[in-house]
Amino acid sequence: MGKLTYLVIHCLDTPPNMHVTKKMLQDWHMSPKPRGRGWDRLGYSDIIHRDGTVENVTAYDGDDLVESDEITWGATGVNSVSRHISLEGGKGENPTKEFGEMFTPEQANSLVKYVKDFLSKHPTCKIAGHYNFAAKPCPNFNVRKFFLGFGFDAKNLM
Ligand SMILES: [Zn+2]
Repeated sequence: MGKLTYLVIHCLDTPPNMHVTKKMLQDWHMSPKPRGRGWDRLGYSDIIHRDGTVENVTAYDGDDLVESDEITWGATGVNSVSRHISLEGGKGENPTKEFGEMFTPEQANSLVKYVKDFLSKHPTCKIAGHYNFAAKPCPNFNVRKFFLGFGFDAKNLM
């Protein structure tokens, strides 16, 4: 439990035509190993689907405190001070890929709106990619470059 500090962006690393439900996520994250990861909760708070719909998958009250039951397991080391969200799609290993090669324009619109809204409520928070906290390319695009391109302030970006 701690003060909300990061909004960490992930991707589901799924193919473009695959729809992911909360039930599927629960299976991947919470089923016992080796079928799932054996976690006691999900890795994300919200999912942004291919059509731009934002689906809440772990409840939170939206204040500045990440309470115990609001924590998700998105990135080891920062979970108690982070909110994790994930874009449906993103299958690919090359971290230099452009957003539009893996995600839809509707997802770009929703992500920008989501982050604007997030920063209006939490103006000192920083927007990060999972790769800022782990040796993996997730969410498979350059988060800083993406948001700078939409006019976001560098002080809110990792
Ligand atoms: Zn990730």
